[in-house]
Amino acid sequence: MKLGITVIGSGSKGNSIFIHNASSGILIDAGFSRKEILARLAKLNINPNMISAILITHDHGDHVRGARVLADQLDIPTFVNESTYKHLKFKNLIGKKVEIFDPGTAFNIEEFKIKPFSVPHDAMEPVGFAIFANRNGEDIKIGIATDLGHVNNLVQARLQECDILILECNHDKKMLRDSERKLGLKQRIAGRFGHLNNEASIEAIEKLLHKKTKHLILYHLSSDCNSPELVANLANAKLAEMNRNDINLQIAKQDQPLNTIWI
Ligand SMILES: [Zn+2]
Ligand SMILES: [Zn+2]
Repeated sequence: MKLGITVIGSGSKGNSIFIHNASSGILIDAGFSRKEILARLAKLNINPNMISAILITHDHGDHVRGARVLADQLDIPTFVNESTYKHLKFKNLIGKKVEIFDPGTAFNIEEFKIKPFSVPHDAMEPVGFAIFANRNGEDIKIGIATDLGHVNNLVQARLQECDILILECNHDKKMLRDSERKLGLKQRIAGRFGHLNNEASIEAIEKLLHKKTKHLILYHLSSDCNSPELVANLANAKLAEMNRNDINLQIAKQDQPLNTIWI
């Protein structure tokens, strides 16, 4: 059975990825309204009943906006760690069915094995995920790290040997400096617990790409302190330098989904 990765959308106004086979799968974050997620799924010809669970990376609005309403409508569980759960419960942002995971412990959802890991970001208990699915006896690994101030040793270790790497490429440092944003916000974004800038992301790619990596999705681009063209140029230059013309590079978009990548 094939494995599909569908980026429903990404950026500071909402993030969501669907990882699935032909009949079911898991939604990583639900950062758009339920209505918007359903509209985008319809555009992709994906039946929302295929979603068997929602996994939450962290409690920020651009990752959880539609989580409660969508989970309750579909009557599916939301997988979340304890601190994030308490925060979302308090804010009435999480559905009725909840499964708590420990960031250091792997668990299964249907055919998918999930290994969460902590990431440095200014949320309650933010995590990234390594997700494994077996295809013809071989483990396919999808690494997801979004919203992270820097790539520490743990993140680097957990994102080794990915077949598909989904990594934040948030902002251009100069565009952030020159932007109209308030100084405190600029410092937050650029800080060690903020968001990964282009330079750091491209540097991380060099360390993380493995010979088995075939797909690279750059994710969570800032709408006013970055541009898809800039990110594509930087990433393509790095891939060329590394002699990696075998890699399918995709830049996630805020306003529309990407076509499903099938493996
Ligand atoms: Zn965040
Ligand atoms: Zn975010």
